[in-house]
Amino acid sequence: MSAEPATPLMRQYQSIKQQVPHTLLMFRLGDFYELFYEDAVTAARELEITLTSRNKDKEDSVPMCGVPHHAAENYIAKLVQRGYRVAICEQMENPKVAKKLVKREVTRIVTPGTATDANLLRSHENNFLAAVTVQGGRAGVAWVDVSTGEFRAAEMAAGEALPALEALNVRETLVADVSAHEAAGVRTPLEGWIFGLDYADRILKEHFKLLSLDGCGLTGKPLAVGAAGAILHYLRETQRSALEHLDRPTYQERADSMILDAVTVRNLELVEPLFAGESREVTLLSVLDQTLTGMGGRLMRARLLRPALAPEEIEARLDAVEELHGETILRGGLRKTLSSILDLERLLAKVTIGTGSPREMLALARSLARVPELKSQLAAVRAVRLEETRERLDEVAGLRDALLTALSEEPPVNIADGGAIRDGFDARLDELRDISRNSRQYIAGIETREKTRTTIGSLKIRFNNVFGYYIEISKANLHLVPPDYERKQTLANAERFTTPELKVLEAKILEAEDKILEIEKEIFAGLRSQASAEAMRIRQTAAAVAEVDLMASLAEVAAGQRFVRPRFSAEGEMRVMAGRHPVIERLAEREAARFIPNDIYLDATKQFLAIITGPNMGGKSTYLRQAALTIILAQSGSFVPAQEALLPVVDRVFTRIGAADNLARGRSTFMVEMTETAAFINSATPRSFVVLDEIGRGTATYDGLALAWAVVEFIHDRLQAKTLFATHYHELTELAGQLNGVTNLHVAVKEAGDQIIFLRRVEPGAADRSYGIEVARLAALPVAVIERAREVLALHEKSEHSVTEELVPKPSKKRGGAGAMQIQLFEPVGHQIAERIRSVNLDELRPVDALNLLAELQRELKG
Ligand code: ADP
Repeated sequence: MSAEPATPLMRQYQSIKQQVPHTLLMFRLGDFYELFYEDAVTAARELEITLTSRNKDKEDSVPMCGVPHHAAENYIAKLVQRGYRVAICEQMENPKVAKKLVKREVTRIVTPGTATDANLLRSHENNFLAAVTVQGGRAGVAWVDVSTGEFRAAEMAAGEALPALEALNVRETLVADVSAHEAAGVRTPLEGWIFGLDYADRILKEHFKLLSLDGCGLTGKPLAVGAAGAILHYLRETQRSALEHLDRPTYQERADSMILDAVTVRNLELVEPLFAGESREVTLLSVLDQTLTGMGGRLMRARLLRPALAPEEIEARLDAVEELHGETILRGGLRKTLSSILDLERLLAKVTIGTGSPREMLALARSLARVPELKSQLAAVRAVRLEETRERLDEVAGLRDALLTALSEEPPVNIADGGAIRDGFDARLDELRDISRNSRQYIAGIETREKTRTTIGSLKIRFNNVFGYYIEISKANLHLVPPDYERKQTLANAERFTTPELKVLEAKILEAEDKILEIEKEIFAGLRSQASAEAMRIRQTAAAVAEVDLMASLAEVAAGQRFVRPRFSAEGEMRVMAGRHPVIERLAEREAARFIPNDIYLDATKQFLAIITGPNMGGKSTYLRQAALTIILAQSGSFVPAQEALLPVVDRVFTRIGAADNLARGRSTFMVEMTETAAFINSATPRSFVVLDEIGRGTATYDGLALAWAVVEFIHDRLQAKTLFATHYHELTELAGQLNGVTNLHVAVKEAGDQIIFLRRVEPGAADRSYGIEVARLAALPVAVIERAREVLALHEKSEHSVTEELVPKPSKKRGGAGAMQIQLFEPVGHQIAERIRSVNLDELRPVDALNLLAELQRELKG
C-alpha cells in the first residue's frame, strides 16, 4: 500500500480499513460499493468484474473495482460463499446535505458463519458458526445459527471436537490464534483472551441480562462458556446490532442422544450423498423430509443426526406421529396451514439484525396471523407431545396487529423506495403525501398548459435524481421556447429548462418526500424494535410450528411409504419382519422395479453378530444399511419401513465401509479403514449397533482376512455389540461354528445354466461360493477371459484345502465369552496362484490385464 493517501476520502478509507482487518471492505461511494488496493484485485478476480484504478494517470493510482449498490447482495453472497469475510461500509449521512466529507461507518460484516441473507442460506439447513477452545485435552465448543437464533455449547474430549463440528456442518470456526486446533469450514483466528472465562462470563451475563449462567446449564463448564463468549464477541463485532433474537446458550448434554460419528453419517448417506455431485435424492433425509416450513426442515435434519436415547422421549414422538398418521383429515388441514407459514426464525433474525425489509416484516406478521388457525386445528389432539406443542404456539397478537395496521398491503423491498407505511396510519404522513401527490398532479397540469402556450406538442416535464424536475424541449423546437424558461442543461438533441413556478413545486415535493421517508423510517424502526422485543415469544412459536411440521411430515411419509410404528425390546432384541431400505425402495419404485423385503433377527446373547456372505451385487450392503437406517429412523421418532419391527434402543451406530470407495480421496484405503475401525473399537458398547462392510479389503488378502478375523473375535468377546459384517472372506463363516454369538447369513442367488440370478433374499447359513467369475461376466469381461478363469479356478479348487485350517488350529468345541485365540499367519504352500486370482480386483481389471495375468499364471503352472 502506498504512503499517506492524497485525498481526504482515501484517508477516511484507510482509517476504516484498519478497523476491519482480514476482510474485504466494500466502501459506499454514491450508487456504488467500491473496493480498493488488494481487496479490489481479489474481488475483481473472484467476481469476474473489471479492475480499474482511481486517479488512473497519476502517480498515486490505486487499483479499484465496484459493484452497483442495488445488486450488492448477490456479489456479497458470492464472496462469502468462497470463504471471504466482507465488511460493508455505508454513508451515514445524505451526501446532498453533508457539508464536507460524508460520514461513513462499517455497518455489518458478513462472514460464512454469520450470514442471514437468503442468497447464502439453504432453507432446510442451519448455518452454523462455531467456536472451539482447547485446554488440557478437553475442548469447549459452542455453535450458533445467527439466521435462526439457536445457540448451544458443550464440552468434550479434544479429539471429539472436530468430528462434532463436522457433523453439524459448521461453516466457520472461531479459534484462539495461539491454538492450532483444526476447524470446520472457514477458520477464523481471534485473540486468545476472547476465549477467557471471565470475559465470556461477563459479556454473556450482560447480553442475556442474567445474574448467573446456572439456568443455561453452564456452571462448572469453563471451556464451554469461553467458546460461547467468543461467539458473542464475534457476533457483536460483525453484526453491530442488538442481536435480541439469540437464544441463551444452553449446555448440550451428549448423553441424551444417540451418537452418530461423521463417517457413519456419510456412509449411510443420512443427509448428503456419499459422492459429491450425486443427486440428493439418495439420502435418507430426502425421503423423510416432507416438511413445509424452513424451521420444520431444519428440525428434521437435526433429529435425524441426533436420534433420541430415552425410551419415553422416543415413544412421545411416536405417539404424536401415530395420531397424525391415523387422522388423515387433521393432517391434511395442518399441512395446508403450515404451507402458508414462512420461515419465522429467519424473518425474525433479519428483522432484529436490521437487514429485514418492510416486505419481510409483513411476511412475519402474516405468518403469525396463521398461528391461531394451527392452534385450533390442534384443539382436540390426544397425544401429549401434540398438546404441549399446541400450548407453546403463541400468535403474539399485539405485535401482529401493530404490524398489520402499520404496514401497507404491498410494501417495498427497500424502505427507501417509500410506501412501506399504510395511508391513514399516521396523520403527518398522510398530509405530506397529499402535498406530494397534489404537486405532482399540478405539475402534470403545467405540462398540458405549457404545451398549449408554446405550441410544442413534444414538450415533456420529467424528473431525474440529479437535476430534479425539468422541461425538455427538442432541438427542432428551441425557437419556440418562451423567455421565462431558464436553461438547465444541454443534450445532443434537446435542451432542459426550468421555470420559477416549477422550482417552487419541486422544492415542495422534494421536501415532502424527504420528510415522508424520514417518517416512514422512524415508524419502521419502531415496528422493528417492537418485533425485537417479542423475539423470545416468536422463537418459541417458531419451535412449536417446527415440531408440528415435523410430526405431520413423518406421519405423511409413514402413510405414503407404508411404514409401521416400531416397538422397542427391553431385552435388546432386534426382529424386523419384511424390512425395506427406505431410499432404495423409493428409487426402485420410480423405475417400476420391486424391492425385495428381508427379515432381520439379532438378539443380545445367542446371535448378536451376523456374518453375511454372497456374491458382489447380491444385496449385502443394502441389507446392512437397511438395518442401520431402521434403527436411526425409529429413534428419531419416525415409523420404519417394515411389516413389523421390534428394535433395541441403541446408543451408537457405527458403520465402517471398506472397499475401494475411499481411494478417490487419495489416502491409503487401508489406513483409513484401520483408523476408522480403531475409533469404533475404542468406543462401542454392548448397546451399540455396528455395521461392517468388506473391511480388510484394502490390504493383501492374508493381512485383510487376519484383521477381519481378529475384529470379529474382538467384537464377539469384548464389545458384544450387535453387528452385521458383510465380507468376501469366505473363511470367516467358520467362526459361526466356533463362537456362540456368531451366525451366518448369505444373499441367495439362483444359478441358471452358467448364469446367476440375484434373488436379493437374505437367508441363514453361509454362501457356498463367491461367484466372482459370474459377476465379472455381468460386467462384460470378454468370454475368453471368463472361460479361462473358470478353468484356472477348477484346477485350484481340486488341490485346495481350507485356508483357515492353516490360519487357526481347529478348536474342539464352540467358544463363548472372552478368551484369546492365536492367529498363526504363514503363507500356505501351493496357494500362491489361487491367492493371486482371489486378490484380483475385478472392478478395476482391464481385459488386457486379465489376459496378461492369465498368461503369466499359465506359465508358472507349467513350470
Ligand atoms: P453387495 O453389497 O452385495 O455388492 P448391494 O447391496 O450393493 O450388493 O446391492 C446391489 C444392487 O442390488 C444395488 O443396485 C441395489 O440397489 C440392489 N438391491 C439390493 N438389495 C435389494 C433388494 N432387497 N431388492 C431389490 N434390489 C436390491
